[in-house]
Amino acid sequence: MEHGLIFDIQRFSIHDGPGIRTTVFLKGCPLRCRWCQNPESWSIRTQLMPSAQGCIGCRRCEESCPGGAISVGEQGPILDRGRCQECYRCVELCPSGCLKTVGREVTVEEVLAELLKDESFYRSSGGGITLSGGEPMMQAAFSLALLRACRSRGLHTAVETCAFASPKVMEAFLELTDYLIMDLKLSDSQKHRRYTGQGNESILKNLAAAAAVRHRNNFLIRVPLIPGCTDDPENLRGIASLLNGVGFDGTVELIPYHRLGAGKYPRLGLEYTLEDLESPTEEALKRARQLLKASGMRLANEAGVLPEK
Ligand code: SF4
Ligand code: SF4
Repeated sequence: MEHGLIFDIQRFSIHDGPGIRTTVFLKGCPLRCRWCQNPESWSIRTQLMPSAQGCIGCRRCEESCPGGAISVGEQGPILDRGRCQECYRCVELCPSGCLKTVGREVTVEEVLAELLKDESFYRSSGGGITLSGGEPMMQAAFSLALLRACRSRGLHTAVETCAFASPKVMEAFLELTDYLIMDLKLSDSQKHRRYTGQGNESILKNLAAAAAVRHRNNFLIRVPLIPGCTDDPENLRGIASLLNGVGFDGTVELIPYHRLGAGKYPRLGLEYTLEDLESPTEEALKRARQLLKASGMRLANEAGVLPEK
């Protein structure tokens, strides 16, 4: 029985593919995009994620910790990750729920049972299930088994991926995925490495493989619009040129930067490096859309699914 590690299941999602969907968020990602809104997805292990919100200062966590890894200050619990033995005793004892774990081990059967709860909504809306993350390809065996199980029940499948994977893994996913959502961030590999931790060579190879078998209604490219990083005309033209070069016939969606995930970084012991960055203005978004359209791209509407007329 295939086991996987997930950190969320979101029902009634309307932004992760066509129709009404249930999205499964998997732990583990090979990239470290500085703007990531889900840094809790990065590690492929279960993690402790403390929050000051709601802490009543009872010190049960501090007193129960076998490694002396947690102390309670005026701002709530402070975790020394180097000392944490991941026993999660503190999570069990915390009366206010401000100590939580991210990551739950599940079987394919358990997730499928959850997904089937909304089968009638998928059927009436043309929806289905979406695997997201994190990066579903990091847990390839589990994700593929889950996609296969969904297919065998006649569920429409979508995968949201950064496509940083081996060609063999990509090919296996393409076979089991009805609707592909792929991120494309930076056309220049060095810049890609600087902002995500990895070059983009394998991503571009997988893009070509996907473009060869996908068409306008089942392939969406998402481009995060990050001011001062991905939003310059050179990068946007570069992305359009890469897509044109592989005969891409799908739709492109721009995802404007926002800092919703910033507060999670310190809770995970991570540094948020885009502290002073603002979301792109309407004007900047419009300019980016116009540039992509002028470069031959078909853009998604607000729902991210239908091509713009
Ligand atoms: S998980 Fe265990 S070792 Fe880590 S802080 Fe909590 S009680 Fe301490
Ligand atoms: S057990 Fe929970 S409520 Fe009590 S001090 Fe620790 S974090 Fe705060």
